[in-house]
Amino acid sequence: MLVEEFNMEKVIDEFEALTKDADRAQKETLKKILEDNGSAEYLQNLGLNGRTNPESFKDCVPVVTHKELEPYIQRIVDGDDSAILTGKPIKTISLSSGTTQGKPKFVPFNDKLIDATMQIYRTSFAFRNREIPIGNGKALQFIYSSKQFKTKGGLTAGTATTNVYRNSLFKSTMKAIHSQCCSPDEVIFGPDFHQSLYCHLLCGLIFREEIQFVFSTFAHSILHAFRTFEEIWEELCDDIREGVLTSRVTVPSIRTAMSKLLKPNPELADLIYNNCVGLSNWYGLIPALFPNAKYIYGIMTGSMEPYLKKLRHYAGELPLLSADYGSSEGWIGANVNPKLPPEFATYAVIPNIAYFEFIPLNENNEEYEEPKPFGLMEVKIGEEYEIVVTNFAGLYRYRLGDVVKVTGFYNSTPELKFVRRSNLLLTINIDKNTEKDLQLSVEAAANLLAEEKLEVVDFTSHVDLSKEPGNYVIFWEVSGDASDDVLSECSNCLDKSFVDAGYVSSRKVKSIGALELRVVRRGTFQKILDHYLGLGAAVSQFKTPRCVGSTNSIVLQILCENVTKNFFSTAFN
Ligand code: AMP
Repeated sequence: MLVEEFNMEKVIDEFEALTKDADRAQKETLKKILEDNGSAEYLQNLGLNGRTNPESFKDCVPVVTHKELEPYIQRIVDGDDSAILTGKPIKTISLSSGTTQGKPKFVPFNDKLIDATMQIYRTSFAFRNREIPIGNGKALQFIYSSKQFKTKGGLTAGTATTNVYRNSLFKSTMKAIHSQCCSPDEVIFGPDFHQSLYCHLLCGLIFREEIQFVFSTFAHSILHAFRTFEEIWEELCDDIREGVLTSRVTVPSIRTAMSKLLKPNPELADLIYNNCVGLSNWYGLIPALFPNAKYIYGIMTGSMEPYLKKLRHYAGELPLLSADYGSSEGWIGANVNPKLPPEFATYAVIPNIAYFEFIPLNENNEEYEEPKPFGLMEVKIGEEYEIVVTNFAGLYRYRLGDVVKVTGFYNSTPELKFVRRSNLLLTINIDKNTEKDLQLSVEAAANLLAEEKLEVVDFTSHVDLSKEPGNYVIFWEVSGDASDDVLSECSNCLDKSFVDAGYVSSRKVKSIGALELRVVRRGTFQKILDHYLGLGAAVSQFKTPRCVGSTNSIVLQILCENVTKNFFSTAFN
């Protein structure tokens, strides 16, 4: 389909047809993947011998993690262009954000993943636009490129979002779905994230009447942008008033591009200034700045959920719409019920985008030792699974590391709710706490802060095993000065809110020590973000690591160096 000829009804009809026979789409997709890549060394060694049916595939090909594929990927990265994982050599590598493991992972990338990205963008846009139509304007998109570099073997490497933004299909698709970024390319691809953010905000204000929606890949970047706005809004108004870009933007290409957009406009500057001073505690900031915006759009589930409260504050009456579900390894599902609040958002699996399998979790919500994945048609409503992906870019039966819950079916394709990353976050002995458990515990304790009109800006955790018994450490960045009494209560509340039986019993017999709440200086999580950017991560894909292990020593050091106060829980004394 030509992207220029975007036709909402047609896209929806195509999705209906595809999902009515998801089983067939899956079998055809697997067949195509195996035909395209049958000559790859990896598949050849597994003895598939040209067979492309699901049964033979499952018999011959093992379920793997990134670790098992690493030697193959490394050869590709180092420049071996023989058919290793794919029939056609891989020319581009994606860096996954790697916030879970502490360092970015290399993942093969090719044009098939671009096609899939455009398919999912069009699909979810069609459903979104049917519910909340947008006009022919622009979008304020907080999108950023990561550093792109050449690997030892000469392949281009960057984050998956960067690989997408740099592709010409991205621009044409965005144009076709009325979602053109209001900022020039020089801003998106600028080398300094802080300068790009400043200019995204400035462009948004210059085109304020035209802005139809506000977007970032993960909601964290939207929140980060408006938190920054609170700090720099007067400077932005000055730039608009004078028509001169602040001297803090130093990148010549960005300055040149911005000078074409910036003209002295005292009326606009006054209008924005007055709108800002008229707000109470920045409530409703986004619609106050962008009067024609219809919604705020970005991934808001999973590790983004803790940011929803603040995002709603900035959004005022504007709806928050969660974007789709995917990863550097490829897309999984589209949000075709965009009006559902993000807490209830589900993703309909796109059955021709990859071949999907699902490892069931046992009654303790753990994975079986010998995983036996189910096919797309075999999953059951209400059950939780870890996703296994076979894609067009050389990943076969690859464990993505995400746990999802099947909430229903859209025609015959499952609708998934994102539950959590599969790895356990906090465990010392028999206790088992996931990122979801941590999130709930932080939410409960943060309610105590809310009474003081304060909030948790961001948080993470650590298991301290340096002394006996080990204990949980929770790091909080708080929006202002909370009293010691309240923070001490928060540490008790955090401790009590981990309701896992293993944790509670271990705390009672003191085989796990008292939970420690450590409050860090304002700006500490910004330093962590900057650290990841230095490693090649992109703001667009950034997710705060929710647990920092001792192997992630630099991040742990940043946290520990910035602790201002600490409180041990007395909840189990
Ligand atoms: P990355 O490969 O760095 O872009 O990270 C991909 C990971 O982000 C996925 O494996 C998920 O854990 C998370 N993720 C992506 N999309 C969503 C979503 N819609 N909801 C929740 N988590 C998501």
